[in-house]
Amino acid sequence: MHAEDFRIHVINGYIQDTYLVEYSDKILLLDGGSRPDVPIIEDFITKKLSRKMSDLRLILVSHMHPDHAGAAPFLREKYGTLIAAYHEVDDWYAGAIGALQHLLDSLMAYFVVYKSKKPFKNIRYPRFLKPDILLYDNDSIPFFNDWRVKHAPGHTSHQVVFYHAQKQILYAADTVLKVNTYCVLPFPINLRSYAVITLQKLSELKIQKVLLAHGGICENREFSDLFISLIPKLYNDLKPPMNLLRYVSGFPKPIKEYLAMENNSL
Ligand SMILES: [Zn+2]
Repeated sequence: MHAEDFRIHVINGYIQDTYLVEYSDKILLLDGGSRPDVPIIEDFITKKLSRKMSDLRLILVSHMHPDHAGAAPFLREKYGTLIAAYHEVDDWYAGAIGALQHLLDSLMAYFVVYKSKKPFKNIRYPRFLKPDILLYDNDSIPFFNDWRVKHAPGHTSHQVVFYHAQKQILYAADTVLKVNTYCVLPFPINLRSYAVITLQKLSELKIQKVLLAHGGICENREFSDLFISLIPKLYNDLKPPMNLLRYVSGFPKPIKEYLAMENNSL
């Protein structure tokens, strides 16, 4: 393998799919997984790839939900692996209201586990990520300069996706999910007007392959049309009981701050 060549491996995690980007001299994890994924990631790296855990140079965390930020702190604790995330990531669960949202999000993750008929495992994880590296929109990723950060608010204020321009690959985090064969919007979307901008922004990227956190690898599609086609769906009313879930997902303080920013710019 040439130094800048890589292979992408899918790890089917407890709740979501996580991706290992394997280079000859280093490994990148997209993204922070669920806490029960720690031994799965360890086995994959050491047994399946016969690599050392110290080859795992960086974990990118797209956002603070339990299936995206749950394994990362435990991997860092064990192996000293660096974590990078958007610079506002730790505002999400700040304060008493943030603590409540953290608890509610963990309960919602358990609901997903229950629906998927998987055994219950401990998904508790720290409320604050304390990233070693703070990311900003359009930054190139430290140690992996061929990848770039794209700020993608909508699902949360601080969500980021990761883009490899040369190979036209996007790690989409929770901007779009696949259910059966359909691409759908995630839940919740607390910042709808920001989600519109995010989908427009993604539609402008040249993309051959999308790595989905929920639904595996998606190829051979007209991704630009796909992202645009999801925009009107942002305005569809959710059916019961999903419509009730918005009452338990809108607590984080950054939601109000982002909405205020939007009103000020009108
Ligand atoms: Zn999420």
